[in-house]
Amino acid sequence: MKALKLFFVVILLSSCATKTTTLDEVQKFIQLEETRDILFTLASDEMKGRETASGGYQLAASFVTNFFEENGIEPFYPAYKDSLQTKEIWSYNLVGRIGSFDNEKPTILIGAHLDHIGINEENLEDSIFNGANDNATGSTAVLQIAKFLATKEWNQNVLVSLFADEEKGLRGAAHLAERLKEEGVSLAYMVNFEMLGATLTTGENQVYMTGYNLSDMPEKMNAYAPEFVQFLPEAKQYNLFRRSDNYSFYKIHNIPAQTLSTFDFKNYDFYHKAGDEAEKLDVGNMNKVISTSAYVLARMFEDQVSVNLTNEE
Ligand SMILES: [Zn+2]
Repeated sequence: MKALKLFFVVILLSSCATKTTTLDEVQKFIQLEETRDILFTLASDEMKGRETASGGYQLAASFVTNFFEENGIEPFYPAYKDSLQTKEIWSYNLVGRIGSFDNEKPTILIGAHLDHIGINEENLEDSIFNGANDNATGSTAVLQIAKFLATKEWNQNVLVSLFADEEKGLRGAAHLAERLKEEGVSLAYMVNFEMLGATLTTGENQVYMTGYNLSDMPEKMNAYAPEFVQFLPEAKQYNLFRRSDNYSFYKIHNIPAQTLSTFDFKNYDFYHKAGDEAEKLDVGNMNKVISTSAYVLARMFEDQVSVNLTNEE
């Protein structure tokens, strides 16, 4: 009888240890209502378009800091802040870690820019550029994915970052990429999120990846969610790979560092316009994309999948 009990305990423990993440589990965890709340908060008029000088960025940053604290995401730097100066104005990225950090293990960075272009008083009808799609959506994705990932333990170091000063020439991400390099943090790969609020023309619950042929990341992700990561010809045509925060990590760390997005030039008319507002976005599809991304990343971590450059951008 005792032996039998022990047998069941062993079975129970081993089944816990090997239980892999399911899509259903992630979809139940990442709630549509919360995704909507985060998006609408970051894109509200109160945040004044999240430009550093407007003070709206600081307000958005304290929202992120509170979210991290409430959901067990630890500060990677004191108070999460990685400070930088752009044209005499101080700003900061926010960097959190999930679980402990051990530089012997591979490190994966998940990020999105939190800043936007702020206020333009000359625009009399609507002076606040809320930047809902660009990039309250990507920021929301990073927060929700981090919250899910923080419920589990990983064999990798997982860092999450919200970048400042993307709209000032990708300055925030460049600063963090350089700092991590100086501190000897070796990144395995980086995943960046940009503009997820309009449904990709090819279909629901899909994204495209910039620098599609640069690494095997699309293929590795699609192994867990077939057709999820698409190739967008315009992304290559307009060289989007070099136009977002992923690029600094590629350049400075020589690793796969790419952006997932749903903005395909046909599905949203308000890019960098005052009308880029949360009401115009498809939050249902966005929530699906966020859940699928969290699921794919969790499975890649569980299977300790490596991502490799193929060097044919
Ligand atoms: Zn952007």
